[in-house]
Amino acid sequence: MANTPYPQSYYAASANPVPPRPALQGEVETDVCIIGAGYTGLSSALFLLENGFKVSIVEAAKVGFGASGRNGGQIVNSYSRDIDVIERTVGPKQAQLLGHMAFEGGRIIRERVAKYNIQCDLKDGGVFAALTSKQMGHLESQKRLWERFGHNQLELMDQKRIREVVACDSYIGGMLDMSGGHIHPLNLALGEAAAVESLGGIIYEQTPAVGIERGANPVVHTPQGKVRAKFIIVAGNAYLGNLVPELAAKSMPCGTQVITTEPLGEELARTLLPQDYCVEDCNYLLDYYRLTSDKRLIFGGGVVYGARDPANIEAIIRPKMLKAFPQLKNVKIDYAWTGNFLLTLSRLPQVGRIGDNIYYSQGCSGHGVTYTHLAGKVLAEALRGQAERFDAFAGLPHYPFPGGQMLRVPFSAIGAWYYSLRDRLGF
Ligand SMILES: Cc1cc2nc3c(=O)[nH]c(=O)nc-3n(C[C@H](O)[C@H](O)[C@H](O)COP(=O)(O)OP(=O)(O)OC[C@H]3O[C@@H](n4cnc5c(N)ncnc54)[C@H](O)[C@@H]3O)c2cc1C
Repeated sequence: MANTPYPQSYYAASANPVPPRPALQGEVETDVCIIGAGYTGLSSALFLLENGFKVSIVEAAKVGFGASGRNGGQIVNSYSRDIDVIERTVGPKQAQLLGHMAFEGGRIIRERVAKYNIQCDLKDGGVFAALTSKQMGHLESQKRLWERFGHNQLELMDQKRIREVVACDSYIGGMLDMSGGHIHPLNLALGEAAAVESLGGIIYEQTPAVGIERGANPVVHTPQGKVRAKFIIVAGNAYLGNLVPELAAKSMPCGTQVITTEPLGEELARTLLPQDYCVEDCNYLLDYYRLTSDKRLIFGGGVVYGARDPANIEAIIRPKMLKAFPQLKNVKIDYAWTGNFLLTLSRLPQVGRIGDNIYYSQGCSGHGVTYTHLAGKVLAEALRGQAERFDAFAGLPHYPFPGGQMLRVPFSAIGAWYYSLRDRLGF
């Protein structure tokens, strides 16, 4: 049987030790079968187990194999579309609910880390860096908007102030969110998996769901077994493929790439990011970066629509890093990898239920570290019969990408090219 390893990332190389997790052989029965052991699946499992459900997770590869074990590690609050856009789309009542939840994912992560003693290098503080006055104006209105919903650990920074926290001369200002921050993402996922197991949950690795038998008593089929469950949660996100065809039609896997330098040493690291905050810029195709606990710079950026793996990741990302930090021109890149996130046309998460008992959440379109943790809580609430917050997400409208399956990739690339041109020209 296939044994899919982690990609050769810095995270895999610095992962905490894990127990063996055998594949499913034979037939088992549970309350909830979760497909996918990324943050969505693990967070759902934890909330369900804490509320007395029996849970089994089937994972096609390994815990955190997908975006959850490869991402930039940035705890970014809110959604990939902001609450004012949501308000215009769905009206004030639903937007109120979603707005109040926009910072909850970050709190859930911190609670999990504390409660289960997860070693994942958690640090507080995230910076949104503005390259143009238009972007700065957007941050100012974003701060007012977020404060309306009670999120107030925010500080606007002028050019002088941002230069104190990041040694990049390109920024004209920014916003610091002290309820943002960063983590070693794979170690967070591995710690959550250990917590799942400590509560009696079972995780089968190297166990892809290859079919779902729908109906009153749904069954998840795997190559060498099956799971009978009362409920199924589909949490495969950009790696799900066509297992649930109605989900694939309104979302598109996209790749984004990350590089990691050799260790920079305390002194150089401190000159780049003196307070050890993480940073993302405000461009449509944004750059994001942060230091690791052993003082490497992790730098990510760019999007490959349709999630083809680029041949030379370093050649794509290193120039972006050097544009921000020319002082790193002689620094070696130790790791480069790609990972897939799932884009929806609205850039809002795709959440819902198929029939009575198959639930899903996917497609948070970039910023997913916090949202996926919230999603686990909201899905667990729905399974317990409290669906108000679930319905607020499930009611978000979703549409197929223009061009359908054939042309959605070039159409989206043209759209992104247009928006990044606007960023560069500052309008
Ligand atoms: C390179 C990169 C950088 C990013 N940086 C950030 C960041 O800094 N901050 C931020 O907020 N967001 C970031 N994101 C987005 C964020 O990582 C994701 O939104 C989030 O991790 C998605 O979690 P998930 O559990 O829904 O999906 P995933 O983590 O992708 O997990 C899905 C899991 O399901 C499994 N699976 C799929 N199909 C099946 C099947 N049929 N049977 C069994 N298992 C299956 C996969 O193997 C995988 O392990 C980044 C994403 C990428 C790719």
